[in-house]
Amino acid sequence: SHALMEISDVSKIFTTKHATLPAVDGVNLTVNAGEVLCLVGESGCGKTTTARMAAGLSKPTAGTISYDGQDIWSLDKAGFGNFRTAVQYVHQDPYASLNPIRTVEATLTAPLRKHGLAKNGKEAWEQATQLLRRVNLTPPENYLSKFPHQLSGGQRQRVAVARALSLDPKLIIADESTSMLDVSIRVAMLNMLGSLRDDLGVGFLFITHDLAIAKYFGWQGRTAVMYLGKVVEYGPTPEVINNPQHPYTRALLDAVPEPDPDAAARKLEGGGLKSAEIPSLANLPSGCSFHPRCPIAEDGLCDVKEPALAPVARRSVSCHVVQREDGHPGDRIRPPEPA
Ligand code: SF4
Repeated sequence: SHALMEISDVSKIFTTKHATLPAVDGVNLTVNAGEVLCLVGESGCGKTTTARMAAGLSKPTAGTISYDGQDIWSLDKAGFGNFRTAVQYVHQDPYASLNPIRTVEATLTAPLRKHGLAKNGKEAWEQATQLLRRVNLTPPENYLSKFPHQLSGGQRQRVAVARALSLDPKLIIADESTSMLDVSIRVAMLNMLGSLRDDLGVGFLFITHDLAIAKYFGWQGRTAVMYLGKVVEYGPTPEVINNPQHPYTRALLDAVPEPDPDAAARKLEGGGLKSAEIPSLANLPSGCSFHPRCPIAEDGLCDVKEPALAPVARRSVSCHVVQREDGHPGDRIRPPEPA
C-alpha cells in the first residue's frame, strides 16, 4: 500500500484577542491506502482540528497536507474538487450534518447528480438503494422516503456513511462517529466500517476519545495518541494497545470508556494521573506539557525539557523516561505483554 495522505509538520495556531492557541503543533502522520489510522485523545487535544485539516476544511498555519503526493493547498480548483470527493468527512453528529428537510433519497441522490455519477433520476435511485444495502439499511425501500428525525441515531449514522460512500471515496475521515451510540449499535457500526475497508479498500482516519475503539481495528493500521496538540505515541495499533509506552497512553487504556468527558477525566485520574484537569492551550506547562498530570514525571527534567518523538519498541514515543529506559527491559515501566 502507498501513502494516500501525508500530514507533514502540520500546525494550526488560533489567535484570539487575548491568546495564541497552538491547537495542533508539528504533527506528522501518514495514512496508507486502505489503512485505518486511529487518532486518539481527550477533548482539546487537537484531533478534530487535525481531522478538519486532513479533510481540507481548514488550512494549516504551517506544514503541508499531501494527498496522492500533492500538496492539497497548491491544487487548482478542479484538483481541489477531486480531493474533496476522494476524501469524505463524516461528522460525529449526523443529526447536525443531515439536512432535516431532505429525505434519505434526496440526501443520497443529490451528490450523485451533482457530480455526474448518475445520468438520470432512475440511475440515481438505483445507486441510492445500493448504497443503503451497503450500509445494511434493508430493504432500502423502507428508508428512502424517511426524514432524519424518523430514523434512530444508528440509522442516521449509516445514512451519513452511505452519503460519504456515494462519491466512491478513497479515504473516510470519521470524527467520533460512534461516540453517541450505545454499545451494541457502536459495535455493529465498527464492524460495518471494517467490512467497508475490506470490501472497498477504503482507508479510514478514525478520530475518537476512546482508545478501545482502536482495538476493533487492531488487525489493521496504526494508532496515534495526541495530547495538547502533539502526537505523544504513534505506531502499529497492536503495539500501542498491547504494550503502551507513553504514560498518557497507559492512563487512557486504564480508563474505562466513558461517554461523559467529565466522568472520563475523573476515571483518568483514577487510572494513575495526578490530575484530571487538562491544562489550557493558552498557558501550556513548561517542558513536557504532560508533566503536571504525569505519575512518573521527574523534577528538573520533565518540567524543563520538552521531549521529542523517538523510536521506542517499534513505535514512536515522546517521553524522556521511557526513552531512557528503552533498551533496559528490566527497567521498563511495564513489562511487555506475553505474545
Ligand atoms: Fe511524564 Fe516526563 Fe515522560 Fe512527560 S517526559 S510523559 S512528564 S515522564
